[in-house]
Amino acid sequence: MSGDRPDDCAFCAALAKDDGPENLIVHREEHAALLLNKFPYNNGHCLVVPRRHLVEPSEMTGEESAAVWALVARTADLLRGELRGQGVNVGLNLGSAAGGSIRHLHVHLVPRWSGDTNFMPVIGETKVLVELLHDTYARFAAALAGGSTESDATSSCDGGDGA
Ligand SMILES: [Zn+2]
Repeated sequence: MSGDRPDDCAFCAALAKDDGPENLIVHREEHAALLLNKFPYNNGHCLVVPRRHLVEPSEMTGEESAAVWALVARTADLLRGELRGQGVNVGLNLGSAAGGSIRHLHVHLVPRWSGDTNFMPVIGETKVLVELLHDTYARFAAALAGGSTESDATSSCDGGDGA
């Protein structure tokens, strides 16, 4: 059981630094952390990772599993509240054949809006992307610092499109 941090793991490298927009870590807890995806599919695309370097979900202890899932749940609320997402895709890509890239377990959360079906419309130029990331980072940080920003989060949304 190697809890050590491989030099070639981007997430371990980020976790070894202080939180901040530079390493995209928005929030960290004892067993889990939330970071923004450097190459987002959509504005607000973020990742929940276990603090320890793991590859497979089955490698997590019960405590880590609970911590990761709790942070996923909290982040999903945040994406639909603070970021006004209309929906959220939550997913794991296990193994390169499934699209997994970084070999450090991570759960994707991608906020969705109706009409964004192309998945790539947000990403124009690198410059825009960087600004977007910083803006998104600030919004996450503010929401998480405020503790429960739930207020009334307009989460009901009544499905204006009748879907
Ligand atoms: Zn790692």
